[in-house]
Amino acid sequence: MTDQLPAATEVTAPGLPPSRWRPRLEAAPSPRLLPVTAGDPVTVIAPHPDDESLGAGGLLHRLSTAGCTPTVVIVTDGAAGYPGATPTQRRELARSRRRETWDAIRQLCRKGAQPVFFDIPDGEASAHEAEVTERIAAVLPGNGLVLAPWPEDPHPDHQAVGRAARLAAARTGVELWQYPIWMRHSIQPDDPRVPLADLTVVCLSTAERQAKRRAIEAHASQLRSPFPDFGPVLPEHVLELFADGLEPFFVPRNS
Ligand SMILES: [Zn+2]
Repeated sequence: MTDQLPAATEVTAPGLPPSRWRPRLEAAPSPRLLPVTAGDPVTVIAPHPDDESLGAGGLLHRLSTAGCTPTVVIVTDGAAGYPGATPTQRRELARSRRRETWDAIRQLCRKGAQPVFFDIPDGEASAHEAEVTERIAAVLPGNGLVLAPWPEDPHPDHQAVGRAARLAAARTGVELWQYPIWMRHSIQPDDPRVPLADLTVVCLSTAERQAKRRAIEAHASQLRSPFPDFGPVLPEHVLELFADGLEPFFVPRNS
């Protein structure tokens, strides 16, 4: 989730309490059947290293366990997680986050899934939106499902990657499910940006919740700041939003 505006200011704010969204999520319908079968390729698109685990880690574990073949695309390099870092520190952070992504995917996927790193500069996804669209569209053919960021999430990289994934999914005819990250922190359930009619919630099993927790913990640089002047990007009050075993997705009706 991380990285530059508005994360540096908003994520340290308390945000909405978990109780604000939980009743809506608990009341939302769950998918009766997943739109894939064993052997289908599936792809998760993450704006930053960690979004794949926060937004879709539980479902990714379920899909992998069911025999699907996952690909995890990490769009940006994640170098901007801590404002004020020097160029050298940014490069070191990007390298750390690449290793952390490998570790997270090993927690979520049973069958040799590998990340694909686009290495777009963190915070600049909108400036590379056409390129990102083309590169996602090149990954998707033959996939049964793509999990991508919700384009209304209040973070510029999430919005740009969400738009790119939506266009790429439409071009390739792949079913699209959109996961929110910042929504539960910053957007009220009755906000007009929220398409509640499209909301579906995957209720995670104990094993799926545990795998998701381990995957999030693999992103250690976000849980414990490597810089003394900054707190962690993912403090406890944010992590709590992803620990309740409810994984929301928007399934656009025209996808
Ligand atoms: Zn992110």
